[in-house]
Amino acid sequence: MDVREYTGQMSSPIRNMKVTIIGSGGYIRTPKPCCSCELCKIARKDIKERRLGPSVYINDIDLLIDTPEDIAEGLNYSNIKKVSNILYSHWHPDHTAGWRVIEQIQADIDIRSSSGSQNLVKPDDTINIFIPADLRELIIKLEPGIKYMEKCSFAEIKTFKDKINIKDCCIEAIELSNDIPSYLYLISIIDKKIVICMDHAKNIPASKIPEGVDLMIMPLGYMEEDLPQDHIRRQDTSFKENLNLIDILHPKQTVFVHIEELWRKRIADYQDLETQYKDKNLHFSIDGTEVAV
Ligand SMILES: [Zn+2]
Ligand SMILES: [Zn+2]
Repeated sequence: MDVREYTGQMSSPIRNMKVTIIGSGGYIRTPKPCCSCELCKIARKDIKERRLGPSVYINDIDLLIDTPEDIAEGLNYSNIKKVSNILYSHWHPDHTAGWRVIEQIQADIDIRSSSGSQNLVKPDDTINIFIPADLRELIIKLEPGIKYMEKCSFAEIKTFKDKINIKDCCIEAIELSNDIPSYLYLISIIDKKIVICMDHAKNIPASKIPEGVDLMIMPLGYMEEDLPQDHIRRQDTSFKENLNLIDILHPKQTVFVHIEELWRKRIADYQDLETQYKDKNLHFSIDGTEVAV
């Protein structure tokens, strides 16, 4: 029986989920434009070392979380066939500036139509854009093109308060208790639980996260322990602080995203860390990483 056809009659219902890390990079993608550091030089030649902006896709429900400016490239690279739903984590441009991917997916032009107004073919389905209610004004003010996508009938903005349900998935928004209005998402489906925190892991409200989730996706944090006290990167958690959180929450596996060019580390360096922290079952994503839970 195909797990997608689950009818509730199985003795121990197990539904596998697939999550794809579309873009493993952070605020600054790798290679950084015009940068001549060794990492960027290598990443221009070897696509595996490339890191597009932060975005995650839940395959089972065609849900894309965040649209960085290079998301179209990421969807192509990860061979994603359908986006029915988009969910935003916060307003920052590295997570929203690629909203025009909606137009690129939905727009179609009939080259044989003689009437100007009929040249544009309306899409069969609109894309749902889910935004937590208190982020709506902020996101639309900074990215008014998202509203324009609705005007073009390409998408429909759907604000929500605490949770949304897509098919048999429940997605709960948990506010991060930092200065930047932003959310992490707790995704539940039958007996699986996934936490997805796209950015700003500082002050993840640990008490609101169930212990032992099947998968936790979280930003890597800063890798330099000796950053000056007032350094801007200290707005986020350090990698070591994230390890402490993992020790508290005991996720079955953790996948790091939002991996900055700034740390100048290659895939092999992160693989060494995976070995070093083998007991914690950590994984440092690359673009296109697929995780099954
Ligand atoms: Zn970010
Ligand atoms: Zn560089």
